[in-house]
Amino acid sequence: MEIFEKIGDAASKTYKFTAEKTSKIARETKLKMQINESKRKIEDIYKEIGEAVYEKSVLDEEIKKEDLKQKCDEIDELSDKIVKCKNEILTLKEKRQCTNCYEEIELNAHYCPNCGFRQPEIEKEECNCNEESKENEEQNEADEQQEDVNTEDEEGNNNDE
Ligand SMILES: [Zn+2]
Repeated sequence: MEIFEKIGDAASKTYKFTAEKTSKIARETKLKMQINESKRKIEDIYKEIGEAVYEKSVLDEEIKKEDLKQKCDEIDELSDKIVKCKNEILTLKEKRQCTNCYEEIELNAHYCPNCGFRQPEIEKEECNCNEESKENEEQNEADEQQEDVNTEDEEGNNNDE
């Protein structure tokens, strides 16, 4: 009955792969929903700021920076959240963003195919997506060319023969 065991093994591997993929898609969908929710909240806060400014204007009162600080802080927080969600989506898709033009590019790309900008080395962050990470670490031998210039000044060698 070995053959059945083998089939069972292959099937469970396929299942594991599919389940992993499905959970990734589910996570991505959830993150996208969080992004949209944050964007909606930001829009609401913009509206509130607009109303507050309008009211002050109608009452002929001065608008103080402090009045808007809390709302601005909330927007900052939501923006941070959006960036985090976007980064997590990129990690899930095993992609990264060009630091220059923000185009989605391959994780291991050294240069952006869109704008040609050289990408900084990837910082190793929490990576729970790949258990078996391929070690494709290309060692970039930087422009460190040691030039040993041996200039020996040999002057005044009087060889009287
Ligand atoms: Zn680019």
